[in-house]
Order: sequence, then C-alpha cells, then structure tokens
Amino acid sequence: MLLTDKVCLITGAASLRGIGRATAKLFAQHGAKVVILDLDAGQAEAAAREIGEGHLGLACNVTDKAACQAAADEVVSRLGRIDVLVNNAGITQPLKFMEIEPGNYDAVLDVNLRGTLYMSQAVVPQMRKQKSGSIVCMSSVSAQRGGGIFGGPHYSAAKGGVLGLGKAMARELGPDTVRVNSITPGLIQTDITAGKLTDELKGEIARGIPLGRLGVADDVANACLFLASDLSSYITGAVIDVNGGMLI
Ligand code: NAD
Repeated sequence: MLLTDKVCLITGAASLRGIGRATAKLFAQHGAKVVILDLDAGQAEAAAREIGEGHLGLACNVTDKAACQAAADEVVSRLGRIDVLVNNAGITQPLKFMEIEPGNYDAVLDVNLRGTLYMSQAVVPQMRKQKSGSIVCMSSVSAQRGGGIFGGPHYSAAKGGVLGLGKAMARELGPDTVRVNSITPGLIQTDITAGKLTDELKGEIARGIPLGRLGVADDVANACLFLASDLSSYITGAVIDVNGGMLI
C-alpha cells in the first residue's frame, strides 16, 4: 500500500477506458481516498462509486478557475487535506497546422494547459500549508515528437507547455516539499484513440515501438502511482516517458 489515507485528486478521471480512471482504481487499491473530477457530476460520482467506498466524484471543468477552486475547497472541507493532484484532463483535435482556427487553438490550450495551471493553483495553498504534496502533469509524446496520430500541432504546443509549466512549478514549490513531475505517454489505447485505429494501423505502429505493442491505461497509471507516492520523494521537475521506447 503506497498511498494509505492520502487524498488524491484526478482530473478527467470519469472516462471508462481512460488513463485517469485506471489511475483512480490503482490509487484506491493502494489505500488512497480518491477524488474523481470531470465535466459531468453524475459520471464522476458513478466512477467514484465504482472504485469503492469513501471516494468522491465532483463536477469540475478545469478551464474554469472558480470551478477548480470550488472543487479544491470542497475536498478540503470534506476530507481535510490534499496530498496528490493528477492533472490528467485533456482533449485532442486531429488538425493540420493550416487548419487550426482560433477557436481550435483556444479549446485545446484551455483544457490541456490552462486547466493544469488552474487546478494546480487551486490545490497548492493547501499543499504548502501541509508542507507536502505531489502534482503529476499529463503531457504527451506529441510534445517531444511534434505531433502524433491524433493530436494536432496545437495539441503538441499545449503538451509542450505542460512540460515547461511543470518544471517551473517544481522549481518554485520545491522549498515547500511540493513535488511536480510530468509523464509523456506514447500511444495508449483509450477513448481518445478507440475506433480510430484499424488493426492494420495498430500493427504498423507496434512495429515501430521497441517493446512491440501499444500502451494500455495501466502502463500510465503505474507511473502516476510512482510519482504520487513517497517512492519518488527525491524526484521533482522530471519527465517520465511511458511509450514502449518509441523515442529511442
Ligand atoms: P480520455 O478521453 O479517455 O479521458 C479524458 C477525460 O478528460 C474525459 O473523461 C473527459 O471527460 C475529461 N475532460 C475533457 N475536458 C475536460 C475539462 N474541461 N474539465 C475536466 N475534464 C475534462 O483520454 P485519455 O486517453 O485517458 O487521456 C488522458 C490524458 O492523457 C490526456 O491529457 C491526454 O492528452 C493524455 N495522453 C493520452 C494519450 C493516449 O494515447 N491516449 C497519449 C498521450 C497523452
């Protein structure tokens, strides 16, 4: 048990096959009190019930600063503390560079990058008070490769921004023992990718990955667990690739 009684918030964790949901399940198995934050209250509550008793599901649109603050305040009033935040909520749009309209750019940067800022700002005062905390930010291999199969260039820009923001936060929050690290998943089979990959394309992608397969949500959840727990207590400002060796 690596997270006994730790209060862990995970954004975008209601999606059934998603990375956030898998992380919520794993954290619960490790004794955490998990708070699932997502757009729809009913879905977030159902997801929290599904992982067991004592967990919370709350509506929170991470692009809304007041909503992020309200969610963090409710968690502190009901559970007394905040130990871990996983900034996982994200969206993609498969557009080419010249196809990106201002509204596309806003939408993708808002959820992936602005949401990471707002939700982190909402929890940091409590973590500082506790003199401890771990924040995990979900970036993407798209930030490192400049694009992928599903995210457009604006997604790469947003996820690159997440890496910079995460490092800056790590530097500033280190003296309060609040650690901030990022994960760069490769191609993970979730709702973001479901239905868009033919078996032929999957095979082609897998042949370009040294470990010979696409990722699954649990691969990323395991890295989240390491970064959330005290196993990584001397690690901050780091980026962990979870991509089967795709970048070697
Ligand atoms: P998913 O679509 O299964 O889950 C994303 C979740 O975010 C959904 O539950 C959705 O409702 C929620 N969400 C969307 N907008 C939101 C908002 N404004 N506020 C709160 N919640 C919101 O996706 P996933 O594949 O599990 O991706 C999780 C994270 O991992 C994302 O940040 C994604 O960019 C990143 N990622 C995924 C892959 C992949 O291959 N699946 C690869 C690299 C990075």
